[in-house]
Amino acid sequence: MLVVMKANATESEVQNVCACIRDLGLTPHPIPGQSRVAIGVTGNKGPVDPSRIASLHGVIELIHVTQPYKLTSREMKPDDTIVYCGDCEIGGPEPVIIAGPCSVESRSQIIDIAQEVKEAGAHMLRGGAFKPRTSPYAFQGLGEEGLQYLSEARDETGLPIVSEVVDTDTFDIVEASVDIIQIGARNMQNYSLLKRAGKSRKPILLKRWMSATLKEFLLAAEYIMSEGNSNVILCERGIRTFSDFTRFTLDIAIVPALRKLTHLPIIIDPSHPAGQRDLVAPLGRAGIAVGADGLIVEVHPEPEKALSDGPQSLTLEMFRDMMSDLESFSPTAHRDTNVTS
Ligand code: PEP
Ligand code: MN
Repeated sequence: MLVVMKANATESEVQNVCACIRDLGLTPHPIPGQSRVAIGVTGNKGPVDPSRIASLHGVIELIHVTQPYKLTSREMKPDDTIVYCGDCEIGGPEPVIIAGPCSVESRSQIIDIAQEVKEAGAHMLRGGAFKPRTSPYAFQGLGEEGLQYLSEARDETGLPIVSEVVDTDTFDIVEASVDIIQIGARNMQNYSLLKRAGKSRKPILLKRWMSATLKEFLLAAEYIMSEGNSNVILCERGIRTFSDFTRFTLDIAIVPALRKLTHLPIIIDPSHPAGQRDLVAPLGRAGIAVGADGLIVEVHPEPEKALSDGPQSLTLEMFRDMMSDLESFSPTAHRDTNVTS
């Protein structure tokens, strides 16, 4: 349920409504809007008798939210969410480009790449320190050492850093080091990890599991938001289909579909679905064309020597080309924020 307050409702009226909601054993989530505050209500197992809330000062309307996901839905919050990180606005007017290697491999590797991608126009640096690998024998990442090198790369370049957390045991150290915490595809339904992410003050980049439906994806984001963290960025990174000429099938249709249903920003990872570097830039362009708020792209100066995901990593030259291409392309292609059903 959503409690819509009058445009001139006072802070104490909002607090009073929140107290009443708590009194009923439910959880209030105040959502500031452009002209008025709304209060999302979660925690009800069945229908709630609205009469007590409806009669409170400052309340104008109660709206029943029909979707199973509540806090992530546009029904609850019509205005787009912008996630702020350093100077970047994810979900703002300009697409945000996050670039870097799949894995942090050494101090010089990540610092050199950070300088190069910054020079080419990237807004943030990515790099995995804890890697979820399909094979237990594959490189698992440098762990804490990798986080340290990422911090040094941020100090050198000023680029905010994005890195993955793979379990609750290492959450605290990842959270302390990075600017945006990535939850990877394989952990999209790791509910204890999602709940821990919900308690964080850092933004969460949530990747879609390769077999997740749109509803499951939004419910995973709902886990994070229901614990109090409203800074969630959704990331489409390809799904499993019968098609085997790419690593995964990039489901670009989910961008406008999500746009109608959720206020959260949506970015595209063109690298993991491509699986091969020559397909990355076209998929990135497709993502921006359907209205994504940005891209997260793997880049490596010597992809043939990369410790993970070399075949899909762009060379620095390819990344520079992609960036100059996007520069002329994205102002006309960038998303229409007025998508309606
Ligand atoms: C990654 O970003 O390197 C990664 C492992 O991505 P995904 O979770 O989408 O497979
Ligand atoms: Mn990767």
